[in-house]
Amino acid sequence: MFNSHQRLLLRIAESLLLSLSSQYNIISSPLGEDLHKDGKRLTPQRLKVLNLFENIGSGNHLSAEEIHEKLVKSSSKVSLATIYRTLRLLVQMGFLHELELSEGGHRYELLSNETPDHHHLICIRCGRTEEFENDQVLEAGKVAARVNGFKLIESSLNVRAICPNCI
Ligand SMILES: [Zn+2]
Ligand SMILES: [Zn+2]
Repeated sequence: MFNSHQRLLLRIAESLLLSLSSQYNIISSPLGEDLHKDGKRLTPQRLKVLNLFENIGSGNHLSAEEIHEKLVKSSSKVSLATIYRTLRLLVQMGFLHELELSEGGHRYELLSNETPDHHHLICIRCGRTEEFENDQVLEAGKVAARVNGFKLIESSLNVRAICPNCI
């Protein structure tokens, strides 16, 4: 079927279509109206941030500051506050996954089917993030959900640690 890149493009196209249709009332779908009402549309700004993630590829975990720096370098005039807002929205829209570090730090990665349910080893000092896979964590999540009658969405483990460079 589709690879993850194609799927992302499809979702972007879908969101754009919905945003256009709600803007011009071409189609009045309930979903389109909701997207419009919440302001959850793929604006050029949001697309720029998504493209950045697309270009660096999955498996990279960036902070808002790093994203801001990269965009400014590619001559986009955008404030850090806008980046924070954009990232929050892209997480809500299901394009990005948010990782919580220590002391309120956050990193973002592209949600991708190439690396489903992976886990993170995160340095609390410099933010270096390594991914790993572990079937036992997935199994524990499955069991906990089943025992409590929950529908499982994802099981992921964030391990906070100090990397060799920061010890
Ligand atoms: Zn990751
Ligand atoms: Zn470190």
